[in-house]
Amino acid sequence: MQCKRICRAAVVALAVLLCGCVSPPETALRRFEFTQAQMGLPFRIVLYAPDRQTAEAAATAAFARVKRLNDILSDYDTDSELSLLSHTAGSGHAVEVGDDLWRVLRASQTLAERTDGAFDITVGPVVSLWRKARREKNLPDPTRLIAARKAVGYKHLKLDSWKHTARLLVPGMKLDLGAIAKGYAADEALAVLRERGLSRALVSGGGDMAVGDPPPGKKGWRIEVAPLDATNAPPARFVLLANAGLATSGDLFQHVEIDGVRYSHIVDPRTGIGLTDHSLVTVIARDGMTADSLATAVSVLGPTAGLKLIEETRGAVALVVRKPGERVEHTESRRFRAFRAPP
Ligand code: AMP
Ligand code: MG
Repeated sequence: MQCKRICRAAVVALAVLLCGCVSPPETALRRFEFTQAQMGLPFRIVLYAPDRQTAEAAATAAFARVKRLNDILSDYDTDSELSLLSHTAGSGHAVEVGDDLWRVLRASQTLAERTDGAFDITVGPVVSLWRKARREKNLPDPTRLIAARKAVGYKHLKLDSWKHTARLLVPGMKLDLGAIAKGYAADEALAVLRERGLSRALVSGGGDMAVGDPPPGKKGWRIEVAPLDATNAPPARFVLLANAGLATSGDLFQHVEIDGVRYSHIVDPRTGIGLTDHSLVTVIARDGMTADSLATAVSVLGPTAGLKLIEETRGAVALVVRKPGERVEHTESRRFRAFRAPP
């Protein structure tokens, strides 16, 4: 009996040694920060590790995961798995998709149903026209906008949960994961770091981020909530986060002003028009993908329907700042204040 116990202890000790599962003591951890251009913007990783070599190896692996995801999920890259799927629109073919694309498509369609199409990844043809509008500073041609809208509609995207296939029913459809893919990539990069034993980490891609366990000795990651405008910004607001996602959506960096009206890069799929209510939505949720997609959805839905959606989503809170006219309006979901950190 005694021998059995000793043997078991020895096996456990050996297993721990082999897999390196013992976390280093908190005091032995140092902070490292890395930034790399990924998905068309700077991706940032902050992590705590025992030494530089471990930190660099983990960050390199996490960035490589983001790069692989971009190769799958990008609508800019004509060879991505997503683009190849879009090319089959109207062909009648059901296309088998890989695990990553499946997860993102599945989550997108669930949110599209919950929001009655305010969040809609089939918005690609309309988004393309607005990208051109931004470049040329001219409103999209109305005839082309009407034609593009015929190829938009989440109900035209059919997923088969058994076979993991996707079918695009209408010719000219184009999927766009710009509102959800960065959050998913942040989650997956964080998972890579965690697999390597570095659970005290933060990954952000633009306004979308995923955070793991807090920095040593802290209750959470202190994150500044982006202001509505970079100029005349009010005193900074901070939130404290651990094992969660945070996303910010709005027209702060991407918009076009035509004839005195400011159009956002986020469009209402039901009208085909870029949002004009000048808003910034911050969502905290259980992971980055959920936060990213919800932030875009709430931007389209506006504060009333948007915050209802948030209240109905477990673990999610949101802050909506809008300036539809002269006045700035702040609205937040009930539990948002629980995440607030002192300035
Ligand atoms: P985000 O910055 O996460 O709010 O995502 C905005 C991006 O998502 C845009 O640049 C478009 O590529 C895409 N998009 C725009 N409007 C929508 C929408 N209503 N639903 C889903 N994706 C959208
Ligand atoms: Mg988003």
